[in-house]
Amino acid sequence: MIGPRPHVAATKPYHLPKMQANIILSANESPYNLPQPVVDQIKDELDNIAYNRYPDPMSLELRMLISSAYGLHAANVFVGNGGDEVIQNLYLAYGGLGRRAITFEPMFEIYGITGRMTETTMIPILRDPKNFTAENVIPQAYRMDASLIFLCCPNNPTGDMVSLGRIEELLQNTEALVVIDEAYAEFSSQTAIPLLSKYENLAILRTFSKAFSLAGLRAGYLLASEEVIENLLKVKLFFNFSKLSQAIAKIAFTNRNIFDGQIKKILEERERVFGKMSKINRIKVFPSHSNFILFRTEKPAAGVWQNLLDRGILIRNCSNQPLLDNCLRVNIGTPEENDAFLSALREIA
Ligand code: PMP
Repeated sequence: MIGPRPHVAATKPYHLPKMQANIILSANESPYNLPQPVVDQIKDELDNIAYNRYPDPMSLELRMLISSAYGLHAANVFVGNGGDEVIQNLYLAYGGLGRRAITFEPMFEIYGITGRMTETTMIPILRDPKNFTAENVIPQAYRMDASLIFLCCPNNPTGDMVSLGRIEELLQNTEALVVIDEAYAEFSSQTAIPLLSKYENLAILRTFSKAFSLAGLRAGYLLASEEVIENLLKVKLFFNFSKLSQAIAKIAFTNRNIFDGQIKKILEERERVFGKMSKINRIKVFPSHSNFILFRTEKPAAGVWQNLLDRGILIRNCSNQPLLDNCLRVNIGTPEENDAFLSALREIA
């Protein structure tokens, strides 16, 4: 039988094996399910959906809702099945064979994987090995021949931020479409959204998966110029975003202030867990502007990871990523989950 296209044949599947664990702190999800008032509204809405009819292929009501919150127009918003699908569409529209995309490594791995799958030439720029900041290496991307530049802010898995001044300088020094991935912006104190009105080569990615407790739904969006959004609308699957997704995302976005309490709890726990981890000997903890914390162990990280799993606690081993030898990432859970993680780590590390 005929094989797939050569770049598909050369790719290993990206598997996250299903692990049995009582405490799951590996995927940067919210430890809190949807708040009850949001669940109640979704239940009411489910009774009113015409399931026999196709969804609005343009997701217009949701795009209007999101755009008006930022003082933009629906034509400035693209929605998809999680940030992942938005990223794929960015590559389909702006990447591909003969085109180049820049990432700042270590970074969210889906950028490299999706880039290679669309036959885009990937240009990884390495971060500062001491603290993983991209601040001082971003100028390497200036005037480089690339069509896409991806920068996560805060970055996953390192948790660091880049200043708005540096982002603006990048925008002024490139013809590429600059995508600032703000999947974790709700846990930080900065957003590049105000720069959208000044730079037509800026796009900002957001997701419902983290602060808005909807990783299971798959919903994310991009804010950008009308021209960028129009090109994404050309490449997306026609009915990409289901009626259920549109309805639930609308309810969550309308009620976004209800999530403030959960976000505050996660931030308080981040500070507490960071403080406690900093006191554990034989690990180095990196400051985070997000809902997870990266740390480096003196012992081999694979053993620490396995020992935690043996105690029913699943975190993420990041050691295979550039610069991240013996680094692990744990996301913030409920106070009880965090306490269980801290006491296990004290014993193991
Ligand atoms: N960007 C970053 C930096 C992420 O860490 C993630 C999820 N881990 C995403 C985008 C995509 O999230 P989703 O597809 O769930 O919206």
